[in-house]
Amino acid sequence: SDLYRVDGWGAPYFSVNTNGYISVKPHGTDTLPHQEIDLLKVVKKASDPKNLGGLGLHLPLVVRFPDVLKNRLESLQSAFDMAVDSNGYEAHYQGVYPVKCNQDRFVVEDIVKFGSPYRFGLEAGSKPELLLAMSCLSKGSPDALLVCNGFKDTEYISLALVARKLLLNTVIVLEQEEELDLVIDISRKMAVRPVIGLRAKLRTKHSGHFGSTSGEKGKFGLTTTQILRVVKKLDESGMLDCLQLLHFHIGSQIPSTALLADGVGEATQIYTELVRLGAGMKFIDCGGGLGIDYDGTKSCDSDVSVGYGIQEYASTVVQAVQFVCDRKAVKHPVICSESGRAIVSHHSILIFEAVSASTTCHVTPQLSSGGLQTLAETLNEDARADYRNLSAAAVRGEYDTCLLYSDQLKQRCVEQFKEGSLDIEQLAAVDSICDLVAKAIGVADPVRIYHVNLSVFTSIPDFWAFGQLFPIVPIHRLDEKPVMRGILSDLTCDSDGKVDKFIGGESSMPLHELGGDNGGGYYLGMFLGGAYEEALGGLHNLFGGPSVVRVLQSDSPHSFAVTRSVPGPSCADVLRAMQHEPELMFETLKHRAEECIEQEEDDKGLDFASLTDSLAQSFHNMPYLVAPSSCCFT
Ligand code: PLP
Repeated sequence: SDLYRVDGWGAPYFSVNTNGYISVKPHGTDTLPHQEIDLLKVVKKASDPKNLGGLGLHLPLVVRFPDVLKNRLESLQSAFDMAVDSNGYEAHYQGVYPVKCNQDRFVVEDIVKFGSPYRFGLEAGSKPELLLAMSCLSKGSPDALLVCNGFKDTEYISLALVARKLLLNTVIVLEQEEELDLVIDISRKMAVRPVIGLRAKLRTKHSGHFGSTSGEKGKFGLTTTQILRVVKKLDESGMLDCLQLLHFHIGSQIPSTALLADGVGEATQIYTELVRLGAGMKFIDCGGGLGIDYDGTKSCDSDVSVGYGIQEYASTVVQAVQFVCDRKAVKHPVICSESGRAIVSHHSILIFEAVSASTTCHVTPQLSSGGLQTLAETLNEDARADYRNLSAAAVRGEYDTCLLYSDQLKQRCVEQFKEGSLDIEQLAAVDSICDLVAKAIGVADPVRIYHVNLSVFTSIPDFWAFGQLFPIVPIHRLDEKPVMRGILSDLTCDSDGKVDKFIGGESSMPLHELGGDNGGGYYLGMFLGGAYEEALGGLHNLFGGPSVVRVLQSDSPHSFAVTRSVPGPSCADVLRAMQHEPELMFETLKHRAEECIEQEEDDKGLDFASLTDSLAQSFHNMPYLVAPSSCCFT
């Protein structure tokens, strides 16, 4: 487990068991030993064609653990409850989940259900997100907040006001000054008294990748001058009591509690000023930013780690708000946070399979000894000299000289190949000779390319976009020392479709040889990717999303239940997403099959029924590879 630092980033939900498998503890530290779930068993069960009503889901596969989600939400709530109690803070914490982190219906419904006892609400940033938040919160606590962020037009604001009419506790947060006129006009027309929040642009700036939304030049929020204009206009409209919430967002992955305290302190000063100016202030909403320790180092110097835990985060927020309010003798506001990453990251794991690995180190020259003799004669004089020098240096064990002559020899042979004086077998033989020499003297590139049944663009978009690192680990064979190092290359025809940076700053990761574990597959998991990755992923090369299963720990010891399983999109589904019409495409191809059969002169064995059957099947299939090792599941 040390090799992959599972204890660092995985605790308290993931660990390596004595059999060398990744084990999931769905209730975190409260998980009893018999409640642990073996991840490989879940994968095998979900992909076995005999199970799940004959679905036999294809990989890649997202495995969701709603119990982990519940534990995250409850840990956040209890951290704030504890901070409120221990500091004598005189109001409560009431979080919202920003649905943009993962809009999956069952994730949002679970959060509303688990959060209902704590008045946990939702945050939306667009019209469709608002619609889903309204519908989900209709089944939640009546006091839960529905925070409306993002760019707003007439339709968005009207919808938010409809939500208020439906008695959802809706707050329209002004992100742009222009939105205020719309809110005033539309709320008058609709005869509904809005609850308004405003997003302040703080001066406090978070300098990491995720801090670009913070500081004076941030994309969103109102400057101090704009805040004052909003207050004046609301006052003139007799609506200053409607302004009840102050929102700010320092950026995701806030690296340290020092920066957090600084930002919250500045925001609370603005809050107390709004109170002084007569606004009906009740809530301070600290936005997102509660970070995840992706590499388990607890360091505040990188985007992949943070130097605090949930409890330190909550205590810092509560103390910073309290300190400023007490100095200004202002009533303590209800504290809200929009923690997304921290709630959903752990609950889902992306499982994929390595289907092959490059084998450049084991090549043998494809020429007979006669062929090698001819090769030596075909080489021009310079190349022949390089060949002789390479052999001599190899015998003497001179590494650098070997490398020099090997490079030179290869270059000269490529030139000869381009001229047409060397044939393809001879060129391959030269490559093999150079590889063999490199291996013999210990300078062979030990890094293999493992081809994985995955699209990095669809499933790990943040890695492709800006190098966000996630822990990636084989989910079995962890009791066996990996003897290889490798990078992961995906199925897309794109050189960016690879993972070649790993936690710990490594440019390759330790991997096992394929074909172990009784010839079964080699399964890897990407962990902590439950936030953002699913919604951001695209359709590059028309690879759609993975299959998904939802797994609950069941009552009998060491067992689990798959409570929902959804196959990934078919080829027809992804084609439809790009405006193609699979039904018409099928008709076109069927027609073509008819024509080909009519024109058939000799009997080429063309059979209309089997041609159209296999075409129909192809539209129905998933774009990913059918795992070659899937037979080992039975
Ligand atoms: N709220 C706002 C306004 C955001 O922009 C974001 C994300 O950047 C979040 C909440 C969620 O942040 P996090 O996932 O870091 O908790």
